[in-house]
Amino acid sequence: MDYQSIINDISDEVSSLLRAGKVADYIPALAGVNPEQFAMTLTLFDGTQYSVGQADTLFSIQSISKVFSFTLALKLYRKELYKRMGVEPSGNPFNSLVQLEKEQGKPRNPFINAGAINVADALISHYGDEERAFREVLEFIQDVSDDKTIESNKVVASSEMEHGYRNLALANFMKSFNNLDNSPQKAVETYSKYCSVEMNTKMLSRAMLYLANDGIDPITGRVYITESQSKRINAVMLTCGHYDASGDFAFNVGLPGKSGVGGGIVAVVPKLMGIAVFSPGLNLQGNSLVGTKALELFTTKTKLSIF
Ligand code: GLN
Repeated sequence: MDYQSIINDISDEVSSLLRAGKVADYIPALAGVNPEQFAMTLTLFDGTQYSVGQADTLFSIQSISKVFSFTLALKLYRKELYKRMGVEPSGNPFNSLVQLEKEQGKPRNPFINAGAINVADALISHYGDEERAFREVLEFIQDVSDDKTIESNKVVASSEMEHGYRNLALANFMKSFNNLDNSPQKAVETYSKYCSVEMNTKMLSRAMLYLANDGIDPITGRVYITESQSKRINAVMLTCGHYDASGDFAFNVGLPGKSGVGGGIVAVVPKLMGIAVFSPGLNLQGNSLVGTKALELFTTKTKLSIF
């Protein structure tokens, strides 16, 4: 298949939509990002990459980091992790408080903010301190991307913390229901630091290969997680990766995927490739509008949807 001309066509087709979305502005450090950007990269199992657009531009991975922190927590806690959170789609916005109160402080899944903050808390407990938990997530991201230059942006992390009232509220809720070991402040801080990791679509699509290949990096041969854990992470990405638009994403794109409010989306084509797209304008559910459209066009043109 001529992947390069397919993604070139996609880039042309989405160009008229670049102003349709709205850049996330509830994290002030992200509000100034130019909305008229687009990038897409495919990484195959032999490392071959196909890119279009600004594929070298770094952006804030935000909630895409939840895939990596969940992987690490699942590896460490195995089934015990599900005592803290479920794996059911929430049908609610990513930072919603309502459901969490009704369900006694147990987040529906690891990809809504409450679940991801709880994952951060589990990592802090395991590693013994906040800084170490953050470093382990960062190193894991560097490992699966095979790129040691990847770092977190301190300005974005502190901007997120300064305006993180909702995330602190979620953490406090969980604490009040005895579903958080550490202080709400520490859990949200750790989470915010890895949400502020910056990557480009080349790095992110490469980082998805372990999930496309049953937990094993097809290039380095490193085994990160078991086949069953990989299968489960993909399942949660498919059912919960886009919050209250997860059904739409499965319907229109048909791949396990995860979005972030920085405008990135990662997706996995099992046994074949990792994909990443970037375009900062978001739809109403906080997912990249053009990124979603590009992935939809991709599975339509290539017939690579899992269905
Ligand atoms: N760090 C962001 C937040 O907590 C992540 C949200 C997202 O990407 N959906 O609000």
